[in-house]
Amino acid sequence: MQYKRILLKLSGEALMGDQQYGIDAHRLKEYAEDIKAVVATGVQVAIVIGGGNIFRGLKGASEGMDRVQGDHMGMLATVINSLALQSALEIAGVQTRVQTAIKINEVAEPFIRRRALRHLEKGRVVIFGGGTGNPYFTTDSAAVLRAIEIKADVILKGTRVDGIYTADPEKDKTATKFHNLSFDDVLSKGLKVMDTTAFTLSQENELPIVVFDMNTRGNLMKLISGEQIGTVVEN
Ligand code: UDP
Repeated sequence: MQYKRILLKLSGEALMGDQQYGIDAHRLKEYAEDIKAVVATGVQVAIVIGGGNIFRGLKGASEGMDRVQGDHMGMLATVINSLALQSALEIAGVQTRVQTAIKINEVAEPFIRRRALRHLEKGRVVIFGGGTGNPYFTTDSAAVLRAIEIKADVILKGTRVDGIYTADPEKDKTATKFHNLSFDDVLSKGLKVMDTTAFTLSQENELPIVVFDMNTRGNLMKLISGEQIGTVVEN
């Protein structure tokens, strides 16, 4: 296997499937099965999931809501998604723990790094909910932060696009895909991989990022097995 410990970042929007809002049970089941296959190989899997399918703080603020209040709602949305993914994984027979950055003790464990590491060593999937626990951040930042803390080998950013392109492939048909990029390439070419805070944190800590299409079944497994899937960003 290419990696021993991974941090998988899933966007909230990906959970919507073909819906406009919320969680698509079919998509969730597919994700759970793909993750299960990887766990079965002995690779340690931690997950951060976004909340954009339910609520985004910035959107709330653009409609007049207090930004911090909106971000709190966004963080809670990521907890809802984390619980949904936990449920799907457990139905698939995978042992999991959810740890949250904001305490909701009746529902999930608080984030405790050493405990998270222990779970991973025991083969449990650890889902980190609640983002960083702070407003004005994103779940991409939470994903990079947690990945560094647990010393993951890589952050795998599962999206609906199969890598990083010269332009948005959904808008520009002439866009071409990169297979490998350095962090400096991404900056000099003005490419969008993650928000700046998350990207810088990844670069400073030499944490490689792979952007890949999580919605094609089996892609996660191929990636872990060393196949060239998506775009790799590393120093
Ligand atoms: N959020 C936050 N702090 C964090 C992570 C997330 O305040 O550390 C809030 C923020 O309002 C954000 C929302 O949670 O809009 C959902 O997260 P994000 O937009 O990153 O989700 P994704 O786009 O990956 O679905």
